[in-house]
Amino acid sequence: MVKFKIGLAWLLASLFLATGLAACGDATSTIAPTAASISTASNNTSGAATTAATNSAVTSTTGKIKVLATTTQLGDFARNIGGDRVEVTTILRPDDDPHDYDPTADDSKNAAAAQLIVKNGVGTDDWLDKIITNSGTKAPLIDTSEGIKLRAGNGSDEEKQGDPHIWHSTDNAKIMVANVAKGLTQVDPTNKEYYQSQLTAYQKQLDDLKAQITQIFAPVPVEKRKLVTNHDAFGYFTDEFQITVVGSVIPSFSDAAQPTPQEINELIKNIKDNNVKVIFTETTINPKIAEQVAGAAGVKIYSNLYGDALGAPGTDGDTYLKMELSNAKNMAAGFQQ
Ligand SMILES: [Zn+2]
Repeated sequence: MVKFKIGLAWLLASLFLATGLAACGDATSTIAPTAASISTASNNTSGAATTAATNSAVTSTTGKIKVLATTTQLGDFARNIGGDRVEVTTILRPDDDPHDYDPTADDSKNAAAAQLIVKNGVGTDDWLDKIITNSGTKAPLIDTSEGIKLRAGNGSDEEKQGDPHIWHSTDNAKIMVANVAKGLTQVDPTNKEYYQSQLTAYQKQLDDLKAQITQIFAPVPVEKRKLVTNHDAFGYFTDEFQITVVGSVIPSFSDAAQPTPQEINELIKNIKDNNVKVIFTETTINPKIAEQVAGAAGVKIYSNLYGDALGAPGTDGDTYLKMELSNAKNMAAGFQQ
């Protein structure tokens, strides 16, 4: 008991220290992107988005279509669908946290040069609005969440559109890449058949991935599939593979939020009540509070999941397919500790 109290005091101290972290909840621009999946990226308020300029796409000096994607996983999707016809730049880099990003001047330059812009949507990359405004780009904008059935948000301003971590469902990923293919076809209609065949091939890989992950979890009894993570990023994944989310250290879809002492106490209780053995941390998040919760609950940290970004080149999470496979393997092993 004494040990527990010391642990909690530590947690509280760290909470005070951590209050300097930027909150992602200042959702001044969370406008639901539920209109057409393809709209001109000019950030005017008239809603007069048209696709007028898109058929006269000017290719880059390499002859390739310049695509700008917000997140690393979207960049990977665009490369897979665009193949050798595209030149893809991403705004975020591997291990970058999308919930807490400040656009740079380079982002505006890249947006101005882009012929197609690809975003996640569901509020996770709303900072793109600022980049679009600053750059004056007229490139078509693809919202890859278009057509995806969203999980409910937690009622906060930031999460009112729903859970933004849509890519962690392989079924959702198939819709996201179809949206990318639609956008590429719009800006580069002469290569329509090429993009369609790339799409078909990659969707087949996504089906294979789902089958592989199902196999990975097959030996793990459903009652042992209990997940505690650093932030609430895996709801779509856990829905797809019959995993129960017991809780997350940061009880929010945004990893920029901070847990209250009550929330931490509740999580520790849930971990004990559910006989959870491990907590998973994530590559994009400081594991400090998770480590303290693990200590207080008497469980292990079982690193390290790819939550909101791909890993650096050369890691086992440097593509979307590898990221999800790595997460599945780590979870399956951790559940059986
Ligand atoms: Zn997240």
